[in-house]
Amino acid sequence: MKIEGMAAIVTGGGSGLGAATGRALARAGAKVALLDLDLEKAKTAAEEIAGLGLACDVGDAASAEAAVTAARQAHGPCRILVNCAGIVFGGRIVGRDGPMPLADFESIVRVNLIGTFNLLRLAATDMSVTEPLEDGERGVIISTASIAAFEGQMGQAGYAASKAGVVGLTMPAARELARWGIRVLAIAPGLMDTPMLRGLPEEVQADLANQPLFPKRLGTAEEFARLACHMIENSALNGECIRIDGGMRMQ
Ligand code: NAD
Repeated sequence: MKIEGMAAIVTGGGSGLGAATGRALARAGAKVALLDLDLEKAKTAAEEIAGLGLACDVGDAASAEAAVTAARQAHGPCRILVNCAGIVFGGRIVGRDGPMPLADFESIVRVNLIGTFNLLRLAATDMSVTEPLEDGERGVIISTASIAAFEGQMGQAGYAASKAGVVGLTMPAARELARWGIRVLAIAPGLMDTPMLRGLPEEVQADLANQPLFPKRLGTAEEFARLACHMIENSALNGECIRIDGGMRMQ
């Protein structure tokens, strides 16, 4: 699908991978709405690209419905959704103080998995009533998983499970939405240079940057955004999760 002129929604658009994807989509001529829990960050990122910055908690039905409605009113029904909103935190299943609080597991699944599904269902409904484009295509949905979906580390039970859910959602959603010409894809990043990763201690970052096979560095948000744009433009891609990780496999 061509990007120019299309209405696009990017969640987690105030920072990191989402902000870079918003910039790339705007450069390609899309009308971009950036949704983020942090309205200030969404607005600042949106100003840069003459887009729309909206407050949205992706894990909340009413909040997401309000944001998608506001984006529709400004730009028309959405044709492109890129789900980037996400959180990360670690925790052992059996910790020093006993079992992991269930609320911890629930909160990461709420944002990363339920939040992804929440926007997917709303955007897909919008897309389903648009006019078909070339080849009968109506829209493209890309969600952000992680290589932790496949090789989750100790302490990542919640994060890895939430991201495995995003991978698992991709094929059934692609199958179900194919009747409207909506493609559904996911990206599994390795280690990307974003505020999420820059929160880690320097020595941990240096160690992580050494882990990809080649190139031995963190991926950039712009590389993620380029992949997302390619996935939108290449209509042969569907139902797939693509790794962007420099060949890295976590032990
Ligand atoms: P980031 O922290 O820079 O950006 C995430 C954004 O999501 C923030 O702006 C935050 O405010 C927003 N957000 C958090 N909770 C939200 C909610 N409930 N509703 C709406 N917005 C919310 O992080 P990033 O590195 O750009 O991460 C983007 C996605 O990529 C995440 O899903 C993350 O799990 C995934 N990912 C990142 C890496 C990496 O190395 N950076 C690797 C694999 C996967």
